[in-house]
Amino acid sequence: MTFSIHGLAVARGIAIGRAVLVASSRVDVAHYFIEPEQVTAEVARIAQARDAVIEEIRRLHQNMPKDAPPELAALLDVHLMLLQDEMLANDVKHWIKDRLYNAEWALTSQLEIVARQFDEMEDPYLRERKGDLEQVVERLLRSMKGLPSAMPTPSAVKRPGSTRQQDLLLDDHLDVPLVLVAHDLSPADMLQFKQSVFAGFVTDVGGKTSHTAIVARSLDIPAVVGARNASHLVKQDDWVIIDGDAGVMIVDPSPIILAEYGFKQRQAQVERERLSRLRHTPAVTLDGQKVELLANIEMPEDSPAALAVGAVGVGLFRSEFLFMGREGQLPDEEEQYQAYRRAVEGMKGLPVTIRTVDIGADKPLDRQAKDEAHLNPALGLRAIRWSLADPAMFLTQLRAILRAAAHGQVHLLIPMLAHGREIRQTLALLDHARVQLDNRGLAYGPLKIGAMIEVPAAALSVKLFLRYFDFLSIGTNDLIQYTLAIDRADELVAHLYDPLHPAVLRLVADTISESVAQGKGVSVCGEMAGDPALTRLLLGLGLRSFSMHPTQILAVKQEILRADTQRLKVWAQSVLESDEPANLINT
Ligand code: PEP
Ligand code: MG
Repeated sequence: MTFSIHGLAVARGIAIGRAVLVASSRVDVAHYFIEPEQVTAEVARIAQARDAVIEEIRRLHQNMPKDAPPELAALLDVHLMLLQDEMLANDVKHWIKDRLYNAEWALTSQLEIVARQFDEMEDPYLRERKGDLEQVVERLLRSMKGLPSAMPTPSAVKRPGSTRQQDLLLDDHLDVPLVLVAHDLSPADMLQFKQSVFAGFVTDVGGKTSHTAIVARSLDIPAVVGARNASHLVKQDDWVIIDGDAGVMIVDPSPIILAEYGFKQRQAQVERERLSRLRHTPAVTLDGQKVELLANIEMPEDSPAALAVGAVGVGLFRSEFLFMGREGQLPDEEEQYQAYRRAVEGMKGLPVTIRTVDIGADKPLDRQAKDEAHLNPALGLRAIRWSLADPAMFLTQLRAILRAAAHGQVHLLIPMLAHGREIRQTLALLDHARVQLDNRGLAYGPLKIGAMIEVPAAALSVKLFLRYFDFLSIGTNDLIQYTLAIDRADELVAHLYDPLHPAVLRLVADTISESVAQGKGVSVCGEMAGDPALTRLLLGLGLRSFSMHPTQILAVKQEILRADTQRLKVWAQSVLESDEPANLINT
């Protein structure tokens, strides 16, 4: 039966394919396709992990203290039984052999299917065994990662039970596009999928400018976030359509709906091809104003995509992606230096703006950090606060960036500054990093230094910032979040996240005009810069430098080519003064 699920549109386009459900596990799980010749080794990895975990549980059983609650022994028995269940093992093998999933992915896919079967059981005792299964899978995943498997928490076990498995009836269709459906994906997960083959993404949670959504947008494939129960309503292998423009997923579409979306998909392709002709056209308005179109990147390997759409530099390299999903093992100076250098060399002489690490809030270092996060991570130890709290880590990054600057034009960008003393501490550490490199006799290059304007306090102290910095970059994603007190990652308040709120526009406008008045560079690198519906407004407010995902550059360029900034200047003032600016935007 056809039904649709509504969420938030985050990356445009239409995807049609089979759903792949990705279970969220507390252990980070890699998802990739293996080569057919790797099947045996991958199956063996699971068998080894299974033997190791069985052995470990037996040991636990034997060494159990005499006064341990009897439930604990029963719990371990249940876990042993699940591990020894041949049917489960065979079903996991199916994903590896027939679908060519890596072992971890195969395990979590099967977990998803069996967990649903548990959910549907009438007997409450059997239903509760789902938790045991999840723990067992988690133990296996940890074992495969070489981590110690955690001791189970004695959940309310009353009596041992058995699992009921159903045969998986899945046909093989490796050539069909795959659409990923998950409850949640961390930005690090998304980055992993970047090398993957998915034609679209849907997640239950997330806001329009959550970092997961931002990475989805950079992949240039249709994505919907905040789709609430999608991962519960969709079944593995369901046919789905993702309409990334409308923020809708259609499950089990009828032939008529399929035909309609097939047509829309072809139209979008034609539009893309038309835009691609603007690649080499200079971004100049009708009245001759030159506009700088820069790229936002997450990895050095993104630079070819930036060059391919004619970006004239990188306006935001989110360096934190080098730090995430590594079990807290931070990259050392050499690794960072090589990564920054690759980005700089990849941009072939064009400037690269490297932002120092912005960890925290919806970009935890890893899952453990996420679990341990304080109550209000967006207001906590995030971005520059995190860096200043660990000067040795920060100095390592600053040295690596300074060294990369010997290979091309590098600009340094500092996220989330609010206080004068944070600015001074940062600049003092930068001086110290230079001294350290001098002492070690290592070459480094000159840097332009910029600050992100992402909190209202910074926007309201723009004169102070301009005294210290060569340029400013407005991070509208956070500026909106902090001005309107809306968690950007929370789909429940996504409707209140409003780039056109008069207070937001006032802060953006004043930051631009003060920077322009002082002859300093100012750019917008938040998602507002990549939204073609807002290009004319930002031009009217005096902005001449936009940084966005490479995938958005051509659509924004098209708006610039059609714009007359003289006329837009007058109109933008009326938008600024309006109580409902949104009403004026499409006129
Ligand atoms: C922003 O806040 O607008 C920004 C560009 O930084 P990030 O999205 O990485 O927080
Ligand atoms: Mg930000």
